[in-house]
Amino acid sequence: MTFTTSVDYIRTTFFPGWDKGRRWQVVQVADLDGAQGRCERKIKTISVLGGIERDDLLALLIHEIAHAISNDFHGKRWLQRMEKAASHADQQGLPTLAALLRQQIVGYQDGFRMTAAMMYGEIENCVVSEPQVTFPQVVDFLRRDWGVNRNQFLRRFRRAERVFEEAQRNVRESAEAKAKWLDQQSPEAGLLNTPAPLPQTPAKHSRINCNQSK
Ligand SMILES: [Zn+2]
Repeated sequence: MTFTTSVDYIRTTFFPGWDKGRRWQVVQVADLDGAQGRCERKIKTISVLGGIERDDLLALLIHEIAHAISNDFHGKRWLQRMEKAASHADQQGLPTLAALLRQQIVGYQDGFRMTAAMMYGEIENCVVSEPQVTFPQVVDFLRRDWGVNRNQFLRRFRRAERVFEEAQRNVRESAEAKAKWLDQQSPEAGLLNTPAPLPQTPAKHSRINCNQSK
């Protein structure tokens, strides 16, 4: 199967409802900065790396066209479209292609969970290092880093606000516990830290004075 035949086969068999006006271009290129494929929705162009053939090429085309009709992420909508294509490959008697597609689905599902866990860890870090921070500030800080808008971020990380509130509660509770502990320690700590006898005429703002006032 040549490149053009492969593209036509995938278009007509796997995505018959997509791009009926044939406004999308699918091209082969020599280099993609280390990627195998790229889907540029703004300019309606799918590029795939040259030298990829057979089932690998079909799987790659399906991967990119699934982006063309969903979004740029490997989230729920893209995964659903890939799953649909895998079932279709089974029906077409293409078990190797179906297996390749399912491999990607499993890989990205795992990645999805890991990234979410990492993002929730980031939210906790923000609250710990900056306890006064608000939820919208945390979202803005993290989403910019991740390159998405606020809605996309909140759709993608649905537990974000709950994680934020929990982290705030933890920080508050541990601060309270620490204050309580310090309170109980203070008489003894005071004894241990009894400063050396003050000089006869201490300077007004010497370190000793500052410590005593606490
Ligand atoms: Zn992709």
